[in-house]
Amino acid sequence: MNPASWLAPLESVAILGSVVAAWICLRNLAPSRWPRLGGIAFAVSMGIGTIIVMSTSVELAPGVRFDFRTSLLSAAALIGGPVTILASAMAVAYRIYLGGAGMASGVANIALVTLLGLAFHYRASGREPSTVSILLLAVASSLVGLLVSPMLLPDVFAKVTIENFLGLSAFKAFGTAFCALVLRQDSINRRTGAENRVYRQIFETLPDSLNVKDAAGRFLLANPATAVLMRAGNSANLAGKTDFDFYPAAVAERFRQQEATIIAEQQTVTLDQLAVLPDGEERHLVTLKAPMFDASGAFIGLITHNRDVTETNALKRDLASARGKLQDAIDNMSDGLAMYDKAGHLLYVNQRCHALFPLSGHLLVPGAHIAELAAASLAVNEGVIAGHDATKWLSDLGADTAPQKDILFQRFDGRWISTRITVVEDGILFIISDVTEARNAQAEREQQMREYQALFENSVAGIYRSTVDGRMLKANAALVRLNGFSSETEMLEGVRDIAKEWYVNPARRDDFKRIMASEGRVTDFVSEVYRYRTRERIWVSETAWNVASTDGNPACYEGTVIEVTDRKHAEDEIHRTNLRLLSLAATDGLTGLMNRRSFDEILDREFTSASSQGRSISLIMIDVDHFKPYNDRYGHQAGDDCLRFLAQILMSVCRTPSDIACRYGGEELAVILPDTSASAALIVARRLAESVRGLNLRHEGSSTGIVTVSAGIATASPDQRMSPAALIRHADEALYAAKASGRDRVEVHVPGLSRPTGTEAAWII
Ligand code: GH3
Ligand code: MG
Ligand code: MG
Repeated sequence: MNPASWLAPLESVAILGSVVAAWICLRNLAPSRWPRLGGIAFAVSMGIGTIIVMSTSVELAPGVRFDFRTSLLSAAALIGGPVTILASAMAVAYRIYLGGAGMASGVANIALVTLLGLAFHYRASGREPSTVSILLLAVASSLVGLLVSPMLLPDVFAKVTIENFLGLSAFKAFGTAFCALVLRQDSINRRTGAENRVYRQIFETLPDSLNVKDAAGRFLLANPATAVLMRAGNSANLAGKTDFDFYPAAVAERFRQQEATIIAEQQTVTLDQLAVLPDGEERHLVTLKAPMFDASGAFIGLITHNRDVTETNALKRDLASARGKLQDAIDNMSDGLAMYDKAGHLLYVNQRCHALFPLSGHLLVPGAHIAELAAASLAVNEGVIAGHDATKWLSDLGADTAPQKDILFQRFDGRWISTRITVVEDGILFIISDVTEARNAQAEREQQMREYQALFENSVAGIYRSTVDGRMLKANAALVRLNGFSSETEMLEGVRDIAKEWYVNPARRDDFKRIMASEGRVTDFVSEVYRYRTRERIWVSETAWNVASTDGNPACYEGTVIEVTDRKHAEDEIHRTNLRLLSLAATDGLTGLMNRRSFDEILDREFTSASSQGRSISLIMIDVDHFKPYNDRYGHQAGDDCLRFLAQILMSVCRTPSDIACRYGGEELAVILPDTSASAALIVARRLAESVRGLNLRHEGSSTGIVTVSAGIATASPDQRMSPAALIRHADEALYAAKASGRDRVEVHVPGLSRPTGTEAAWII
């Protein structure tokens, strides 16, 4: 092959270059979102490229054509991996379509170079292939032609393999290396582009300030956090500016000097500094400054990384202060606190611990071993741990399933010391307290309980606790006896419902509960009850109180019961006597009528009630006619009998229980008639006088020959303003008029007339 004939293969090289370049342009235009589609697009593009390359093959000799299909396919397989089998398939299809004598060797050639490319692809194991492996592939794939050449017709074999082998192989190797190198570079560019996007993203979102300055102190790059720190708005505002644009000149100059030194000495410097920001705010920054140089040692820029640790430092300070406070609190605890490691060495002890062990406390220093401490404190009778092998004891405690122990011991001076030992993650914690007072209080409480118990059992009063719904929970001996039971158990089982079984009137239980609900207690609540066993009726006095449960509701009642049957009977007797005395005091002994004292009281009461209710009230005053001579003639005894007869007549004319007959004094009698008009009273008085006459009691000293009476009536109407005394006076005046006008008659007092006229009829108006 002479050099002039190389022109045609060179044209093929140009086409090959165009195919690869076209792919790279296409690839960069397409979005990078579909990596899988990207692989298929690569394979299809390479397939189309191969078809273009095949269809622009050059004829080296009649019937002998050359192209770069193997170069493109082996390079594509190397870079693109298995997906490029698609490209090879397209090439095979096209080759079969072209047909001809070299079809079999052409197809074999395509398959073999593809496999070769894939082999190199796997050899690079996911990374871009090295230049050496690209060159090896280039040579290897160009030699594949040798393998398939026996499949050619003898004259073609002679032409291709024998005459032009070296030249064609060189072209193919060149083509393969060219394609692989260009595709590898594209792949590297894409990968680094993606990496750069990630770096950019980190740079933009980093909360720390990161920037790069050139040798003159101008910002080359600055992330948004830098703009925030510099109070520059956004990072674009920083480009090309220096610290002099933001800080006072003296400060900026100091920074400049510092950075110049770092660049000159090629050092990386870390500063922990209190920085005053451009707006005057002080922030605590940790700053790293590092100069960057390229491979040739030329200065690229000064990178500055600022981390704002103001808040972190404040948190650290707060934490330290909280730790200090906690330490104070532990030191001033009322309990002693000591912490040992698992091997039994004292790690920590608070001040209170020293005070709790007045004799051996000075030995409690960090590092001291528990066995020595236990031995020392036991020797002076301050021992917390009984027994001598404290270490063994500790390991036993550690193995315990419930790793906690409480120990109580009495110190040499009689005080009680309690120790709670807990196995915690980092060791063994002792919490030690002086429980003497608490123990004494407990002992006192127990003593009190015993005393109360004795009181309860021996009290003469019955004492009980019962449920609100009426069952007995507890009863002392006195109450058991009171109810006729022989034991408390018998009584608790026997009583089912206090309301129904105990009280004679079950409603008493409701009264009891009502008072309990409103007052919280009852005092001297006297009721008639049954002695449970005998059903004998007795009287008892209860005093009881609510016992609130923990949630504040009445859970049960407690109280005392004493039998008051004797007292009750005595009280009843006194009551009855009092009633008798009262009635004696109110009635007249001779006649059985209300006496004068009652008359006054009743008249007052009825008068007031009549005035307030707007009703009339009438009064009849009665006097026996010529009674003195009656006594004289028939004797005083007969006079008394006469008065008793008259009293019975008086009572018989009273119409209702509210009409009251009284003995006003001597032989003067009276009838109080509430709610009665003058005319109604007159009817009563006349019937009275009539009844007396009807007695027909002989009285020779009287002109009529029988005992008669005279009566005077007065009435207080609601429209009159009158007093009881005036009513009596008016009735008296009417009686006087009856006497004056001849006796044995009834006269009515007329308001406005000071003296009655003496004519009975004239008074009846
Ligand atoms: P007159 O018709 O005016 O009333 O005449 P009189 O005799 O009844 O006079 P007067 O009312 O003053 O008489 C009162 C007498 O009543 C005096 C007394 O002897 C008598 N007397 C008063 N109280 C009693 C009493 O309790 N028993 C008896 N037997 N007589 C009594
Ligand atoms: Mg009289
Ligand atoms: Mg008289």
